[in-house]
Amino acid sequence: MMQAGQKLGIVYIGKAGGKHKYSLLDEKDVHLVKKFRFEAKVDVNKDGNGANIFAYAFDLSREGTSGCYFHEYIWERHCGGIAPGFRVCHKNGVTVDNRLNNLCVVPSPQSKDSKVKSSSADSAGHSNNCGSEPREDQRLYWMAVCRLPPFEAEHEHFMNLNYKCYNANGEQVLEEDDTLSFYECHYPPCCKMETELREFSICGQCQQVRYCGPLCQERDWPSHKKYCKEKARQRINCDMFPER
Ligand SMILES: [Zn+2]
Ligand SMILES: [Zn+2]
Repeated sequence: MMQAGQKLGIVYIGKAGGKHKYSLLDEKDVHLVKKFRFEAKVDVNKDGNGANIFAYAFDLSREGTSGCYFHEYIWERHCGGIAPGFRVCHKNGVTVDNRLNNLCVVPSPQSKDSKVKSSSADSAGHSNNCGSEPREDQRLYWMAVCRLPPFEAEHEHFMNLNYKCYNANGEQVLEEDDTLSFYECHYPPCCKMETELREFSICGQCQQVRYCGPLCQERDWPSHKKYCKEKARQRINCDMFPER
């Protein structure tokens, strides 16, 4: 539960896994946001079993060339260095929930007795399969994301058929070459990620967004429908004029 007077910050970090991602911060860390440029970084698990999205931060005072995982930065800032063989992970499994209370240090996967602890933390998003209800310790993140206004820019962005895609360096890239990327459930607060490619079912109308289950799709519909209908209309137009 959120305590009275408790304040949190939420920062937009970019698009990944087919959706817009935000990172949750303690109020005392909100001022840091001005010092960094953020990116939503997708790390595919080494066993090929899904992926995780992290807030990755580029230090603007170093011309934005040096990047770091923001949860590691937060940990080091408040708790000091991370010993070799250890890593910082997210207790509630939400890998963009960077409140200090949600961070802990566990042995890296390479070291011997890491299995017990690390599997219960960062992978928790997958194991939470009871419909679309957040776990108790994920509620703050859900509340914060649900309060955000719908991402209107997304609608404008996609309605322009000629829009171009740029990577973090400002270079133009081919749009949506996502055949090899994992999708996260498109319902904003839900952090379930596919554990295999194309595991989640796609919205039948727009063929653009994927959901972990019907409940999330239902909940996202009020904000998704405008974009969905527009995209479905464009698809019909494209089919009628295939040379475009
Ligand atoms: Zn979901
Ligand atoms: Zn749709």
